[in-house]
Amino acid sequence: MSNRTFTMIKPDAFANGHSGAILDMIVKAGFRLVALKMTSLSSQKAGEFYSVHQARPFYSELVEFMSRGPIIAAILEKENAVADFRKLIGATDPAKADPGTIRKLFAASLGENAIHGSDSDENARTESDFFFSNLERI
Ligand code: UDP
Ligand code: MG
Repeated sequence: MSNRTFTMIKPDAFANGHSGAILDMIVKAGFRLVALKMTSLSSQKAGEFYSVHQARPFYSELVEFMSRGPIIAAILEKENAVADFRKLIGATDPAKADPGTIRKLFAASLGENAIHGSDSDENARTESDFFFSNLERI
């Protein structure tokens, strides 16, 4: 699955009405939608998704934020998907993100940064399996 990555439009961007514009940017950048759903995370599920950050000082704030409201989860396909998508979303901190990136355009802060993108092929697989069954993938 090295040509696939996983993304979430986070609760801040969803609540601010940016989901349509973000999905448009993703599709126009050449990513094919393999799976897509609107859902929300319980704090337990958000904690599980971000368990790698469990020991970090921002963990509880992150879990609270990510379980605050609806999100959109998706699996995306493109050659070099993981790296190209990280380029499209920009740096974790929107203040440091390149102009024209999704985080630069739509994110307000380091914590509430609009969108998630997997950081490796292995995590893309794990994160996709967290949200989607095989029946939900086209
Ligand atoms: N985060 C935060 N404070 C930090 C670093 C990260 O609140 O100092 C949040 C932010 O929402 C980020 C998420 O935790 O997107 C996961 O962090 P990671 O370092 O994996 O950044 P990403 O891969 O999302 O760019
Ligand atoms: Mg990460």
